[in-house]
Amino acid sequence: MGRHVGLLGGTFDPPHVGHLVVAESARVDLGLDQVRLLVAGDPWMKRTVGEAHHRVAMAQAAVVDDAHLHVDARETERDGPTYTVETLEALHHEEPDVTWHFLLGADTTARLDEWQRIEDAYRLARFVAVTRPGHEVRLDPVAAQHVDELEVPRLEISSTELRARYAEGRATRYLVPEAVDRYVRRHQLYDAVG
Ligand code: ATP
Ligand code: MG
Repeated sequence: MGRHVGLLGGTFDPPHVGHLVVAESARVDLGLDQVRLLVAGDPWMKRTVGEAHHRVAMAQAAVVDDAHLHVDARETERDGPTYTVETLEALHHEEPDVTWHFLLGADTTARLDEWQRIEDAYRLARFVAVTRPGHEVRLDPVAAQHVDELEVPRLEISSTELRARYAEGRATRYLVPEAVDRYVRRHQLYDAVG
């Protein structure tokens, strides 16, 4: 029996309840056995991100109480830019019986045609675009043939806003898992940067 596994790629700087709601909604609605948070190392579309070891630790803290959610840190463990297609090839090789579902928020769908070897990626995983407030799912003609859409509860939360909230000393509780909030404060991750 092949398993169905979801992948939610991101920088998770920090992980927040928006990520968890996407993962859990996709798991239930798509009938997935589990969802893995795929922590990006050096994403080519984003220049400045927090240290990978902190982002991995926070992702682990975010999922620790949920038997269906896991963290995959492989992209942080190698040098150079992160290409999703290479990660999918490695996963496919390691776990050939799994059907992979690559989840992505509506803000990331417009530029899919710029992804490295995207046609290969479409062959290796089912791509699912999830709703995100403030963003329409926009798909180029090729993507429209390959990417499914899924409605998830719309939570207007982003890591960018959370970093600003920490920097400004504003409320963050309940926007991130309790353990993540504690981790950020203990390590003063966003105090100076915003
Ligand atoms: P940043 O503001 O730093 O970009 P982010 O909140 O967008 O952070 P990412 O780590 O970039 O978080 O997101 C990982 C994945 O989760 C992306 O596919 C993103 O679109 C999706 N995502 C993040 N937050 C939400 C949300 N509130 N609703 C739906 N999808 C989300
Ligand atoms: Mg983002």
